[in-house]
Amino acid sequence: MAKSRQYEFGRVFLARLPHKGDLLESITMFCADSELGAGFVSAIGAVQSATVGYYDQKAHEYRTISFHEPMEIASLAGNLSVKDGQPMLHAHVVFSRENGKAVGGHLMSPTVVFAGEVFAVELCGEPLVREFDEPTGLPLWAALR
Ligand code: ZN
Repeated sequence: MAKSRQYEFGRVFLARLPHKGDLLESITMFCADSELGAGFVSAIGAVQSATVGYYDQKAHEYRTISFHEPMEIASLAGNLSVKDGQPMLHAHVVFSRENGKAVGGHLMSPTVVFAGEVFAVELCGEPLVREFDEPTGLPLWAALR
């Protein structure tokens, strides 16, 4: 059974990302500057190039996939928690190409923003801390093990 923790909705933000900024870093910095300990993030917009990861479940490592082309951010969904004392955004993204076909994965840097609009919701409660998880090799929410 899934373990969970209950939160209350806090502040709600809309933010515009800087042109040519890094998508993951810009959102993470915005969340840190806004002192968001836990939250939900969604975004739409466009990128000039992108990097995503695909997690190899046997090797326990990310394979990096790079796209050197302008694409739409058709959907970005992520959550904010804490790793090594710092806010960590974990986001997955779907990009659409010029022909309308989609690619996507675990958002990584460098991903260069053309334009980006972020919707973020603060979740008030005890921040979730990520710690190394042996079975998956991933930094997961330790309190919900
Ligand atoms: Zn991921």
